[in-house]
Formats: sequence, C-alpha cells, structure tokens
Amino acid sequence: MKANVSQVLISNIKSFRNLAMFLEEQYPKLTLKQVAAEIGMSEKSLADIKRGKFPQKKLQNILKSYVEKNFGFTYEQLSAESTRIEAKRLSVDSSTKHRLTKVIYPGTFDPVTYGHLDIITRAVDLFDEVVVTVAVNPTKKPLFTTEERVKLLKESLKEYKKVKVDSFNGLVVEHAKHVGATGIIRGLRQISDFEFEFQMALMNRKLAGDITTIFLMPHERYTYLNSTVIRNLASLHADVSNFIPPHVHEALKKKF
Ligand code: ADP
Repeated sequence: MKANVSQVLISNIKSFRNLAMFLEEQYPKLTLKQVAAEIGMSEKSLADIKRGKFPQKKLQNILKSYVEKNFGFTYEQLSAESTRIEAKRLSVDSSTKHRLTKVIYPGTFDPVTYGHLDIITRAVDLFDEVVVTVAVNPTKKPLFTTEERVKLLKESLKEYKKVKVDSFNGLVVEHAKHVGATGIIRGLRQISDFEFEFQMALMNRKLAGDITTIFLMPHERYTYLNSTVIRNLASLHADVSNFIPPHVHEALKKKF
C-alpha cells in the first residue's frame, strides 16, 4: 500500500512540485531551478521532468532519499505538507478560527419573499447564527423603506431563534466583520444570477480573504421568483399570495 501511494505521487511532475513548494516555504527565495540543483539535478533533467521524459523510477529514488535524509520524514508526509502549503498559498485557512458558525445574508429584500425565506431556512440548518441584513443601498430606489423592510423580515422570521435582522449601509464585508460573521450567504436561482454573484463573491474575497461566500439554492418552485416581479404583479393587483407571507401581502396592498 505504502509503495503504491509513493508510486502514484511520484509518477508525475506534481511530486516534484511538492518538494519544490516545501523547499520554497523553508527557503522562500528558492526557484524551481534551484531546487533541482539542490537535489543534484541538471537543467536538462529538470526540463525532462517537465516534459515527463525523466525516468520515473530514478526520480522517485532521488526524491525519496533527499526528503528522508534532509527532513527526516517520508514521501507521504511530504505530500500532506505540500497540500497544507498550497492551501495557505490560496489563503484557504482550515484552522478552527475560520469555521463558519455565524453568517450574514445580505440583500435588498424589497420585499422579502418565500424565496428569501427558503434560503434562510437552509442557512439556519447549516449555521449556528444567521444575520439577515437589509442593504440600505442608496443607488436603488426601494418601494419599502429600510425600516419597513427590516420590520417585514422580523415578522416573517420571529419563530427563528437563530436569526437576527438588521440593516447596513456600505460594504457587506465590513458589516460581516462588524457582526462577527465569517460567511456571506447568497441565493442562486439560475445561470443568470451566476455572473453577477461570482463577480461579487470574488470582489468580496479580495476585500476580505477571511470571509467566505456560500451559495444556496432554493426549492425549484422559487427559482423564477424575485422581489421585482412581486412588486410589478402587486402594482397590477395580481394575486401574489403564493409567493409572499400574508403580512407582506398586506403591506404591499397598502402601497398600490
Ligand atoms: P440583492 O439586491 O442583493 O440581489 P435581493 O433581495 O434581490 O437583493 O436578493 C438577496 C439575495 O437573495 C440574493 O443572493 C438573491 O440571489 C437571493 N434571492 C432572491 N430571490 C430569491 C429566490 N426566489 N430564491 C433564492 N434566492 C433568492
């Protein structure tokens, strides 16, 4: 079994990269070329390795003896170590301090629909605390004021002990930090949501690498539902009672 693991690890260039990554972390200025020199390889051998031409058995033996002699651990341990290094490079932190226990679910919620509530229910199942947070967002002209949107959410979520409702003005990641959340929940309904959500998630990651965006999918029956459709239908006095809670329906009727 042990021999098989080594065989698989060493059978491709990745095994060489494992070692390179490890050495790079030990000696940050080292290049792949220098690593090759360090383990006694010529440039030609390095090029052969990259093209998959270097005899595998020979590479295996070189790497094995180098790792064991210089670092005192086995090749399998090196693989685990390099996975850790790679994760660090990608700034994925697997330590407990980043375990997701508290998340925020930001949105306009103008007004809250059963689609939003579906996502919140799923988030509640997964995390200890969920802060549903209404974006003040001065660029959008919401039908309901921030206070009204918060109130409608609070009424909808009063049975959920793990949920808090608040509002924020500014950056989502800042608000997440402010409330002590390490995750941002967003709902994905269809492909059309994806591009915008993907962009936002990456931007938020750039702004705050320690905050993770999590996408949840609602039940199929809500995938075509959004607040704009509800507002439009309500303005035409259509029956939207299947998509929003009764108290939201009442509030909507008063607007039109
Ligand atoms: P925003 O202006 O931030 O998109 P919304 O209130 O429209 O605010 O939506 C907030 C979040 O809830 C978004 O991630 C959105 O994709 C998600 N969402 C909205 N409607 C639904 C729905 N019907 N099903 C699932 N997720 C939804």
